[in-house]
Amino acid sequence: MQYLLNTYARFDVEFVRGESATLWDKDNNEYIDFTSGIGVVSVGHGNVRLSNAICEQARNIIHISNLYRIPPQEKLAEILVKKSGLENGGVFFCNSGAEANETALKIARKYGEINGEIKRYKVITLENSFHGRTISTLKATGQPKFHQYFGPFPDGFTYAKNIEDIYNKIDDKTIAVMIELIQGEGGVNPFDIREIQKLSAELKKRDILLIVDEVQTGIYRTGEFLASNLYKINPDIVTLAKGLGGGVPIGAVITTLSDVLKPGDHGSTFGGNYLSTRAGLEVIKILDEYYESGMLKETTEYFENRLLEIVKEFPDKFESVSGFGLMRALRAHSVEVRDEVVKKAFENRVLVLKAGEKSVRFLPPLTITKEEIDEGFDRLKESIK
Ligand SMILES: *Cc1c(COP(=O)(O)O)cnc(C)c1O
Repeated sequence: MQYLLNTYARFDVEFVRGESATLWDKDNNEYIDFTSGIGVVSVGHGNVRLSNAICEQARNIIHISNLYRIPPQEKLAEILVKKSGLENGGVFFCNSGAEANETALKIARKYGEINGEIKRYKVITLENSFHGRTISTLKATGQPKFHQYFGPFPDGFTYAKNIEDIYNKIDDKTIAVMIELIQGEGGVNPFDIREIQKLSAELKKRDILLIVDEVQTGIYRTGEFLASNLYKINPDIVTLAKGLGGGVPIGAVITTLSDVLKPGDHGSTFGGNYLSTRAGLEVIKILDEYYESGMLKETTEYFENRLLEIVKEFPDKFESVSGFGLMRALRAHSVEVRDEVVKKAFENRVLVLKAGEKSVRFLPPLTITKEEIDEGFDRLKESIK
């Protein structure tokens, strides 16, 4: 690792093989993966259908550029618009969550420029949010610890303490509110559904855009196609990335403001190429079947029950379960307990994530089997003991 920049505190393990939610290291030790690469490998490791689709595409055309039509990109855009329920929507493809959020901010700023007498450009985000690592999405992220060293930042970001506080932060220059519906990195904190519906309606009345960052919550992670569907709202802009390509890098922005950006306003060299959009198509096809057959719901309930069991069995260590679908966390009583459990879990070969101040986060592949769940929780309990 000596030639890599030291940006991650890595576990010293080399995974060489994967199947579903199971990974093997180079000494053939088996691990249960409750992280899916931070919510990316949504259809599991070594998925045969996804890898076949990718291989077939790679043998033909991987990339041409957005100067020419790309049929799987057009098809994926149609599916995203129709499934999201965002009427007359359009899609822009890029390669990551941060880039999707950058795109959303550009759309909002241009909308603010061309509508109204004064330019509206301010964006309200929430404390404890996470929106990415580029200079503007870092500034959008309402966690001061990330801002150290990297200023000066672009102007126009304001942080609200919670949903109610957003109303206090609105002024005549506000163009958009950008939020996660369930804060992921912040600790798996879902907002109240009625509060969000009220916010959505209120912003519409005032012609302020609602941008929902679904980079982590999108593509069935919370049980519905989008968390926005679960919350029954129609945002102006939705951003996606993590689970969409099953591990192939892809980001997407779905917006009802489909005529704001014009040729030359925005672009991406790799965005929406044959390979990533072909992957996206296959991932959605697999997960649609999983959702429609009731399997996703069944797996979610099974997983949830195992989490509730932990709180019941170890009330001295954990206080509650949070989240929706297969985006979940166990909230520990202290950061020490949380850190110790995550460390012990790794030693016992079950992979879990940290989030927020004192949560153990779970983002398993959506296609995880009951056997893998059982095995993972046995190891987790051993670790907690
Ligand atoms: C991961 C994440 C991002 C950043 O995505 P990248 O692909 O790492 O740029 C942005 N927003 C949310 C909510 C995320 O979870």
